[in-house]
Amino acid sequence: MDSVGVAAAAPDAGPGPAWQSKCPWGAPSTTSRSCSLADVMSEQLAKELQLEEENAAFPEVVAAAEGPFITGENTDTSSDLMLAQMLQMEFDREYDAQLRREEKKINGDSKVSISFENYRKVHPYDSDSSEDEVDWQDTRHDPYRADKPTTTPRRGFIGKGKDITTKHDEVVCGRKNTARMENFAPEFQVGDGIGMDLKLSNQVFNALKQHAYSEERRSARLHEKKEHSTAEKAVDPKTRLLLYKMVNSGMLETITGCISTGKESVVFHAYGGNATEDKVIPPECAIKVFKTTLNEFKNRDKYIKDDYRFKDRFSKLNPRKIIRMWAEKEMHNLTRMQNAGIPCPQVVSLKKHVLVMSFIGQDQVPAPKLKDVTLSSEDMKKAYYQILNMMQQLYRECSLVHADLSEYNMLWHDGKVWLIDVSQSVEPTHPHGLEFLFRDCRNVSQFFQKGGVAEALNERELFNAVSGLNITADNEVDFQAEIEALEKMNEDHVQNHGKKLSTFSSDGDPPIYDE
Ligand code: ADP
Ligand code: MN
Repeated sequence: MDSVGVAAAAPDAGPGPAWQSKCPWGAPSTTSRSCSLADVMSEQLAKELQLEEENAAFPEVVAAAEGPFITGENTDTSSDLMLAQMLQMEFDREYDAQLRREEKKINGDSKVSISFENYRKVHPYDSDSSEDEVDWQDTRHDPYRADKPTTTPRRGFIGKGKDITTKHDEVVCGRKNTARMENFAPEFQVGDGIGMDLKLSNQVFNALKQHAYSEERRSARLHEKKEHSTAEKAVDPKTRLLLYKMVNSGMLETITGCISTGKESVVFHAYGGNATEDKVIPPECAIKVFKTTLNEFKNRDKYIKDDYRFKDRFSKLNPRKIIRMWAEKEMHNLTRMQNAGIPCPQVVSLKKHVLVMSFIGQDQVPAPKLKDVTLSSEDMKKAYYQILNMMQQLYRECSLVHADLSEYNMLWHDGKVWLIDVSQSVEPTHPHGLEFLFRDCRNVSQFFQKGGVAEALNERELFNAVSGLNITADNEVDFQAEIEALEKMNEDHVQNHGKKLSTFSSDGDPPIYDE
């Protein structure tokens, strides 16, 4: 690519833009709240914190309020925009490469060196993304045609009779937009597009302009304090590209809108596309996008780094890859559950941090959470026994503890309970697996006891019923202590033998090993 615009830019250009548009959630609040280990993963707490944040900054998200998010029909402009954005990214990269060359030239072998880092366009967490790009060279048409963009005179039209061209003419307007790109911001590199006969549609132009301004603001913020994690958002350009590809490939027909925005993920509704030879796509899908926000996931490290299935990989990965592992973990856990016949979403596809699964609900309306639905006492009892059964299956057949089980992660659909949100689920032999199970039991017992199910076991009875353990302590504190003692025994055993117990045994039997 020609680098006219790149070479012309001096490093004293000041703070410039990088690759990010406006954050729909704003910067995460920095206020922190102390909480117990048990609260760290509590969805309820997460929801409360999130609500506070949202109330402060944003109006409620209405499902599909803004019409289709990405469809097969409107790909025209979105692909234009996408291409334009990627073009911009390419310019920024070249600019940075040039900057690095100059930096090297100036510093040479000198012991004292100056850094141009603050003038880079592409910020660190954007820089490992080359694999995400589509080959736009193949899809654009030749822009090298006319010499200079032409503009219309003040009176608003040129020509005569049926050859009149007004300022609204698509071609003229497109050229004008290209010329106006120069005015975005002094530091915004627009490359050599100005000299080409590029015709930007108003929509693309406006989006780029918006991008230029928000980049400027963001970049200024970044340079103020080196805190890259504040500027993230869920659907960044790269995620949008992944979603776009899913529609483009025909796997999805339309992405209609957002169902839920949580601390760690955003969930969209989509209509399924065409079946392939080996795969039937459900008519309606849920797309869970794990936020590429690094700081929110720190709390959850322990769920994955102590899970021996992922342990070896964990230490070698960068934060972006770790987030992909959450999506991967959810996929594996859902598959196990599916195999055991537990009602849960069916995995359709996993692409990086984007998980597509079947939609629980109908006609874009997600099934209500148990916390939001009013059940007859008969259904309530039915739901309780079903959950008791599912918890046992999960533990015994899937060898999993949900670890965030509550009325927030159970949906009521088709007269039964469906389990969702299993990215944090762990094996029972996880160092805190039994504690997580106990917390799940507490949530479930409390919900059904409050809901008037007289048969509902208390949390300790439920724990024993699910795990098959026989912890006899008759109060919460002692019970908890016994659980921790069991976990410690397992850990010690791992230290000594490098293997985990597949089953916990509380009655003095020799440990049973997992071969
Ligand atoms: P998190 O709580 O971590 O944000 P969840 O997996 O619980 O993520 O999804 C958030 C919300 O999105 C759920 O409470 C539910 O309302 C909706 N949702 C998630 N997956 C599905 C699905 N497969 N079908 C229907 N709704 C879903
Ligand atoms: Mn959830």
